[in-house]
Amino acid sequence: MEDLSIKEVISITEGVAVNYNDNIVFTGVSTDSRNIKKGDLFIALIGSNFDGNEFVNAAYEKGAAAALVSRKVEGNCPQIVVKDTMVAMQEIAKFYRQKFDIPVIGVTGSTGKTSTKEMIYSVLSQRYRVHKTEKNYNNEIGLPRTMFGLKREHEICVVELGMNRFKEIERLAYIASPNIGVITNIGTAHIENLGSRENILKAKMEIATFFTDKNTLIVNGDDDLLSGISGTTYRLIKFSTKRNGDYNAFDIKDMGEKGIEFSCKYRGEVHIFKTSVPGIHNVYNALAAIAVADIYGLDVQEVKNGILNFSPGKLRMEIIDAGDIKIINDCYNANLDSMKAAIDVLASYKDNRRVAILGDMFELGDFSEEAHRSVGKYLRERCSFFVAIGKDARYIYDEAINEVEGIYFKTKEEALQELNKVIKKDDVILIKASRGMKMEDITEFLTAQR
Ligand code: ATP
Ligand code: MG
Repeated sequence: MEDLSIKEVISITEGVAVNYNDNIVFTGVSTDSRNIKKGDLFIALIGSNFDGNEFVNAAYEKGAAAALVSRKVEGNCPQIVVKDTMVAMQEIAKFYRQKFDIPVIGVTGSTGKTSTKEMIYSVLSQRYRVHKTEKNYNNEIGLPRTMFGLKREHEICVVELGMNRFKEIERLAYIASPNIGVITNIGTAHIENLGSRENILKAKMEIATFFTDKNTLIVNGDDDLLSGISGTTYRLIKFSTKRNGDYNAFDIKDMGEKGIEFSCKYRGEVHIFKTSVPGIHNVYNALAAIAVADIYGLDVQEVKNGILNFSPGKLRMEIIDAGDIKIINDCYNANLDSMKAAIDVLASYKDNRRVAILGDMFELGDFSEEAHRSVGKYLRERCSFFVAIGKDARYIYDEAINEVEGIYFKTKEEALQELNKVIKKDDVILIKASRGMKMEDITEFLTAQR
């Protein structure tokens, strides 16, 4: 972070400062008293299980220059007292972002936000010094944290915006002030809070709340809901694999674990682009990056290199050769769309026995049964054997079992006991479920055996 003065913080938050002097300058911001660095502003957030105000003195002892609190705490620590520390942190993050006259690209959508953000990062990095969201820091705390990572050297920034309910993306857009918005797709994640896909569309569209004719929204033109957007005051760009967009991928060749190849017109000429990672969905993520690259003037070789260099990150679509089996380790997270995308990758191994080890998808509310059944149906033609693990994974089992051999376990622990009996030499094995299932335990188990 670049320096931020206590005077700036007081003025932005309209807080009441105590024990302080005007010369205090912050060199970092932290909400975790255990990770305080000297010169940090400690922000005391209040969660359901903790009250950050109680850790002010601990943070001060570790070197915090001051604390942002919602009640004055005993002791010598300089404090800025505000009504709501979360809101204040977000206002500071917005103020801090405005210090940088650089474009910010905000990525939202139901599935593929992190992947698309990483693809855009990989492409833009071929020319610019790019700041990006680390890991999955995409929410009301993560986004401010990302903004505080901006430094003078950065020329462009790409951030992930996540949401569970209405008004969250609007708030994140307020903080990050994106010049460009990207919406990857409208799926069913968080439908339990929002009620319908139409409402999910509305919530994602909040990314454009503050857009003027200077802004651009880039959306997936193959998505049934996003394709319907039109007549915006800002610039609207669509990408498509069905020639429905401004950037169209065609002649798509799925080369299995070697990646994907596709053609797309860029700056007036058709070029072939390649990914080095599997997953047909990466064509969409690459198209979003191509659209962004065009806006920021990258030449075609830079775009090609960026797409080729993209790697999806740990636990996402990792291909692991473990002795006599191959694992598609995609257990970072799952929802209906990403399950299908991963099953497609498994299905591409036509010459092997294809085993899908799938666990529960969470946060689907009333839609959960239908979604799990839909995965079960999708499995039928595409795998040789399946293992369904978890409570609602029962529906996967019920839906698939008449068409393809499989087995059901209520818990991961039970599955681990039995797995060795069902895995065979030369199997290709997909492992995937929601984050809470921690399916990497299965990957570790299977690789440790070999
Ligand atoms: P989260 O809401 O957890 O932050 P996310 O939207 O950031 O998720 P990713 O982490 O990028 O999504 O990807 C989740 C899964 O979806 C991965 O397993 C990945 O293989 C798959 N995936 C990536 N991009 C797409 C896409 N465009 N369409 C469908 N599936 C995708
Ligand atoms: Mg993400």
